[in-house]
Amino acid sequence: MRVHVLTLFPEMIENALNTSITGRAIEKGLLEIDAINIRDYSHDKHFKVDDYTYGGGAGLLMKAEPVCEAYDALTEKLGKKPRVVFMTPVGETFSQKKAEELAKEEDLTILCGHYEGIDERALDEIVTDRISIGDYVLTGGELASLVVIDAVSRLVPGVLHNDISADTESFNNGLLEYPQFTRPESFRGRKVPEVLLSGDHKKVDDWRFQQSLIRTARFRPDLYIKFSDDNEAIKEYYNKHKELEEEISRILKSEV
Ligand code: SAM
Repeated sequence: MRVHVLTLFPEMIENALNTSITGRAIEKGLLEIDAINIRDYSHDKHFKVDDYTYGGGAGLLMKAEPVCEAYDALTEKLGKKPRVVFMTPVGETFSQKKAEELAKEEDLTILCGHYEGIDERALDEIVTDRISIGDYVLTGGELASLVVIDAVSRLVPGVLHNDISADTESFNNGLLEYPQFTRPESFRGRKVPEVLLSGDHKKVDDWRFQQSLIRTARFRPDLYIKFSDDNEAIKEYYNKHKELEEEISRILKSEV
């Protein structure tokens, strides 16, 4: 997968992604990061890329020309127009589902704003998706784009050592992940749950599923309600596990 990042701070993108799992994916040629400096497309002799906003107001806005020309040069080089994600608080909130959707792209462009953002005409001209990483305002889109690139790239086949590990993680089946433990068996008097030492895979799977239900109800009741609503399989499961159903309704009553 090739990710083209249009940014005023390419070194921020390169430095962050050249380490750990994404760094290895780049080395193996599974992931290519192409950080494009929008400033290189400035028309100004001082490489200025921002200006005052029409209508007044504090702060500067990134100009349309350098952004669009950086993208035009990219499309010319690639011979196609890849999807362009603009990182912005005015966008849909990023999710695992969106990461899965974006991971299918062969080429993906991510546009990072700075200052007060980017002239709307540039966005209308090139942007296909607007993504926010949460309801707060960052100084620039770079950190937000790194969140998206990290989440997307780990879904590219071969990037994670074990391809199935992404399948069992939080959000994959609509629930949060169960708790996990490693050695030692006892830490500060806290023991690893017996069932995980039993070697009985069926029992382990069942315990993990129940823990996922409990944790989702406790930490993300909104997700739990979405998951269980009209879910015949879970209703059937609760028919056989009445105590679990009661425990979850107690949790929901105290959390909601
Ligand atoms: N004036 C903009 C507004 O109120 O929506 C905020 C601009 S912000 C200071 C500068 C840039 O940071 C944005 O153009 C965007 O690229 C990025 N940014 C800030 N918060 C973000 C968020 N929650 N998610 C994604 N990108 C964000």
